[in-house]
Amino acid sequence: MKKILITGAAGFLGSHLCDRFIKEGYHVIAMDNLITGDLKNIEHLFQLEHFEYYHHDVTKFVHVPGDLDYILHFASPASPIDYLKIPIQTLKVGAMGTHNLLGLAKEKNARILIASTSEVYGDPLVHPQTEEYYGNVNTIGPRGVYDEAKRFQESITMAYHRFHGIETRIVRIFNTYGPRMRLNDGRVIPAFMGQALRGEDLTIFGDGSQTRSFCYVDDQVEGIYRLLMSDYTLPVNIGNPHEITIKDFAEEIIKLTGTDQKVIYKPLPKDDPMQRKPDIAKAKEILGWEPKVGREEGMRATFAYFKTLSKAELEKTEHRDFSKRNKK
Ligand code: UDP
Repeated sequence: MKKILITGAAGFLGSHLCDRFIKEGYHVIAMDNLITGDLKNIEHLFQLEHFEYYHHDVTKFVHVPGDLDYILHFASPASPIDYLKIPIQTLKVGAMGTHNLLGLAKEKNARILIASTSEVYGDPLVHPQTEEYYGNVNTIGPRGVYDEAKRFQESITMAYHRFHGIETRIVRIFNTYGPRMRLNDGRVIPAFMGQALRGEDLTIFGDGSQTRSFCYVDDQVEGIYRLLMSDYTLPVNIGNPHEITIKDFAEEIIKLTGTDQKVIYKPLPKDDPMQRKPDIAKAKEILGWEPKVGREEGMRATFAYFKTLSKAELEKTEHRDFSKRNKK
């Protein structure tokens, strides 16, 4: 039986990856420090013989007993509200956490896949973004702690590959959504859905002309799975190229949730990318992958999940308003 270590296992993507690798017949070792993750995302796996959970912060030395075949490094805060709240941890997990896991991969002779992000492209000047684009990142802006940690993560991963010959994979994840997103992570989908469920107006940041392209979690997991199993070592974009403006997206959410909310406008956060859309030619060619789940179907499934949350959970949500902190 193959053994896989998944860091950030109690998070949104990490927990879906745990499900997938359990389904594929792996022994899954889940690791998380629960700064942004939540055990309720993986508690359904606790009774399984081939699932173990370690509460651990991967910026500290990582020890796993016995053999290990694969490592998926998905531990990191991943939303703008989190980088503002825990900027140092964000830098550390991308830099020191990745270093520890690469060391573990070397020690165990394991193949390691690193979760990178479309944020390495910053506020892109090339559209759609291909893997060859170097990016337009503000090192000292509010997103810099995430963007630069992820860029360093890619560099050290390639260095371990080239210098130590370890098997590495790098996925550049574009906006991904689905059940188990954290309601209060400040991202646009949980924000709009939470607002709809609480009967509040939907907050659009800026004039809503900025674009995003949203990928359903099952498609993302399939892309990651195929990349891990491939022999391709350079970064690969995984995301859905179907682009929409945030303003049009708000209208879609209002229609989907059947509410009669209005949209209200708030200041655009600093360094908020104006447009984002993956070029997925490489994933198509190398992995034979493309997304299958359309936005309507994916959003319906995601809204069904948010509807299962209790009233108390819905009320816990805090609002993300960057206007004050960004003035500093
Ligand atoms: N956004 C918005 N209202 C919200 C939350 C986000 O208009 O309540 C905007 C945000 O400014 C950005 C887009 O939606 O332009 C996507 O934001 P998200 O935080 O989901 O992801 P990212 O900016 O990292 O792509």
